[in-house]
Amino acid sequence: MKFLNPLRVQKGDKIKGVVELKKYLTYLGYLNRNNCSNNQKIKSNNIFDKPLQLALKKYQKFYNLNVTGILDSKTVAKMHKPRCAMPDFYNHSCKNVKFLTTDSLYAFLPGQPRWKKRILKYAFSASTPKEAILAIELAFKEWASVTNFKFEPTRKFDGAHVRILFLHGEHGDDLPFGGPEPIGGVAHSYPPPIGEVHFDAGLKWSNKGERNAFDIKTVGLHELGHILGLGHSSDANAVMYPLVHLGETKKLDADDIKGIKALYKLK
Ligand SMILES: [Zn+2]
Ligand SMILES: [Zn+2]
Repeated sequence: MKFLNPLRVQKGDKIKGVVELKKYLTYLGYLNRNNCSNNQKIKSNNIFDKPLQLALKKYQKFYNLNVTGILDSKTVAKMHKPRCAMPDFYNHSCKNVKFLTTDSLYAFLPGQPRWKKRILKYAFSASTPKEAILAIELAFKEWASVTNFKFEPTRKFDGAHVRILFLHGEHGDDLPFGGPEPIGGVAHSYPPPIGEVHFDAGLKWSNKGERNAFDIKTVGLHELGHILGLGHSSDANAVMYPLVHLGETKKLDADDIKGIKALYKLK
């Protein structure tokens, strides 16, 4: 991304690439599409304005960075990290940017989409690697162990509640994989009632904790969290934290479990 130069960019600056930063933060839900001050569409210019400063502060708070509202090298480094393509926020309010103050950092998706059924059938696209199927089935088991869901495989792909696909590049939605802009992320999901997970087949995946590959079960746990209705957590230990690095392996964390139990009112 053009804005991702290790510069110190701050309010009042007019620098090429700021418009890209605005687009990035708008896509992730930090910056309102409407400019709050005068209700116009997001200003597609390179001026580092007040709404952008507030959005950047919110981003820095979420990612546990120094909350300065200045685009510094540490903030840029976070933006470079591989991530899930789902936004971090959905209901951005312009005034009174509220920061999270509770111990629980989990979030629900907007409108709190949930499954009514407790037995969900899942299926993999024909191109899914065998080791990916095994790893994602372990992820299903891990979510089942902390909920009252049962996940069952089905051969009827189209009729499955949860469909898992490994896809290349442009794949029919507006979140292409592998382009110059990492818009599709390493994976993304369509929450209930759709129930579909897209993994970037162009990346190296592993189920053995290899250092130069993304761990399928770890990313699978994250995406299945979306499938069940969870949003992104700012707890870096949580599976629902949006960023993932090569070789990183995670299990469900206390924050994930608290989140899913709260969403489905489980004890
Ligand atoms: Zn995500
Ligand atoms: Zn997709």
